[in-house]
Amino acid sequence: MKKTARQLKVKVAGNEKVKENIYRLSFRSDYLSKHSLPGNFIHIKIENTVLRRPFSVHDIKGDKVYVLFKVRGKGTRFLSEYKRGRSLDVIGPLGRGFSLKVPGESLNIIIAGGIGVAPLVFLARKIGKRGQRGNNLAILGFENTGDIVCEEEFRRLAYKVYISTEDGSRGEKGNSVGILKRILSGYPEETFMRIYACGPKDMFFEINKTAKKFPNAECEVSFEQFMGCGLGVCCACVIETKTGYRKICRDGPVFDIKEIW
Ligand SMILES: Cc1cc2nc3c(=O)[nH]c(=O)nc-3n(C[C@H](O)[C@H](O)[C@H](O)COP(=O)(O)OP(=O)(O)OC[C@H]3O[C@@H](n4cnc5c(N)ncnc54)[C@H](O)[C@@H]3O)c2cc1C
Repeated sequence: MKKTARQLKVKVAGNEKVKENIYRLSFRSDYLSKHSLPGNFIHIKIENTVLRRPFSVHDIKGDKVYVLFKVRGKGTRFLSEYKRGRSLDVIGPLGRGFSLKVPGESLNIIIAGGIGVAPLVFLARKIGKRGQRGNNLAILGFENTGDIVCEEEFRRLAYKVYISTEDGSRGEKGNSVGILKRILSGYPEETFMRIYACGPKDMFFEINKTAKKFPNAECEVSFEQFMGCGLGVCCACVIETKTGYRKICRDGPVFDIKEIW
């Protein structure tokens, strides 16, 4: 059950380099591990930066909370240098997560573009607990082999994993939506399915075009956008929806795709 966000002082338990420029940071928090839902995010104060930086809850095991992040600029570069034992100021859990409302009977498709895979491992763990084995697919798209992360995590959670790379160095050449289109072409139109996505906005647009052909498809997408306060006050992260502007930090980051297009 998601509760009110709290500001917490935690200690870094680990910060492992998993790929060039990609790190998995962990810390222990009873509160966040109990109250975070897939798709929620944590706002982290990083040294030498004024604004906090948002990161999805990547996974939770016991009281350990994991964040998977890519080094992009100043904040994430500093964060990559955080060592075990260092204290960290975090606010969370924040935002509206994935709904997880259909327990099992449908085809569950997780689709990621690059580091968009981060929130989807925790989601896969939760779906796996409720869903039918064999009905869960993970389609993971990356630039090249060197960027591939989390493949094993999805396999361990009994997901059938499909990989695409832009340069064709592993899996199918192209992006993850190409694989989605191919897989769905083998399913009847009336199939009940839930699609959960995180990645660039262009990817969501393409997913929407594909999913629209299936009247019983529901699709939720998690947006990444520059954020200010993360608490719904500053309006730096608004997105245009069919019913007006919404704040990604408070009304999202997860939206039903039908709210957008
Ligand atoms: C709800 C939410 C969840 C997120 N979860 C994750 C996560 O789990 N793992 C992860 O690696 N990243 C995640 N991000 C993106 C992450 O917040 C940014 O990468 C981070 O703030 C960059 O900080 P920086 O100081 O290193 O980069 P900056 O110096 O601030 O920016 C460097 C470059 O990074 C890009 N960038 C910065 N902020 C964002 C942003 N919010 N969205 C997209 N691109 C950005 C821009 O291209 C920019 O030019 C998430 C963003 C949101 C809004």
